[in-house]
Parts: sequence; structure tokens; C-alpha cells
Amino acid sequence: MDPNCIFCKIIAGESPSTIVYHDEQVVAFLDIHPAAPVHILIVPRQHIPSINHLTGDHEALLGHMYTVAKQLAIENGVAESGYRLIINSGPDARQAVFHLHLHLLGGREMRYPMG
Ligand code: 5GP
Ligand code: ZN
Repeated sequence: MDPNCIFCKIIAGESPSTIVYHDEQVVAFLDIHPAAPVHILIVPRQHIPSINHLTGDHEALLGHMYTVAKQLAIENGVAESGYRLIINSGPDARQAVFHLHLHLLGGREMRYPMG
């Protein structure tokens, strides 16, 4: 745990959040500033700052994050209407929280082109 990391604090139960799913590898909670009717963050318990810090040891974890996202899309009623999964990495992507997380966005048509 990084004591300066807001997502580590949420995972440790030291900061409030609306948790919608948790297991031994990940915690999922509602984004505090939702950008769509459904906006859930799927967050590994392990403090990995960004995609740049991934190693081969994390491959199963990344796959699990996407499987959890699929299940949450079903449970939140957007599996058929569609949804977008986003991981921002670094300044140009406007990554704001340097604890890896997967955004699940749905419930409205997404803007296109992306970016
Ligand atoms: P990033 O730009 O790093 O990919 O996205 C960070 C996301 O975390 C943003 O969508 C922001 O609204 C969300 N966020 C930042 N601080 C908190 C917080 O304390 N609680 C929750 N639930 N979401 C947060
Ligand atoms: Zn962290």
C-alpha cells in the first residue's frame, strides 16, 4: 500500500467509496465524478502506478480486470447497449490517479472519434 494513494486508501477502507464488487485481486467502485450514467473503476488491490509498470507477472491480473468489467457491464444493464473500457496512461492521456484502474463507461452513446 502507498499511504499517499487515494485508491490504496479506498481499498484499505480508510476513504469512503461506493464499492460495487470486490474479490481477492480487485475492488470496483463508482467514480466520484461520473462521466456517463454507468462509470465504474475496476482497481487491482496491488499498487501498480500505471500500465508502464506492468510485468509478465501481471498478465493474469489484467485478464481478470477485464472479466470483472464484463460481469459488471451485465449487472449494470449495458452489456447489450454497449460500453467503453479505458485505461489512461501518463500525461497525454490525462491520467490523474497513479494507481492502475480500468474505467467502465456506459449508459449513453460514447463520443466518436475518440480522444
Ligand atoms: P484517470 O484520469 O486517472 O484515468 O481517472 C481517475 C478517476 O478517478 C477520475 O475519473 C476521477 O473522477 C476518479 N477519482 C479520483 N478521486 C476519486 C475518489 O476519491 N473516489 C472515487 N470514487 N473516484 C475518484
Ligand atoms: Zn495505490
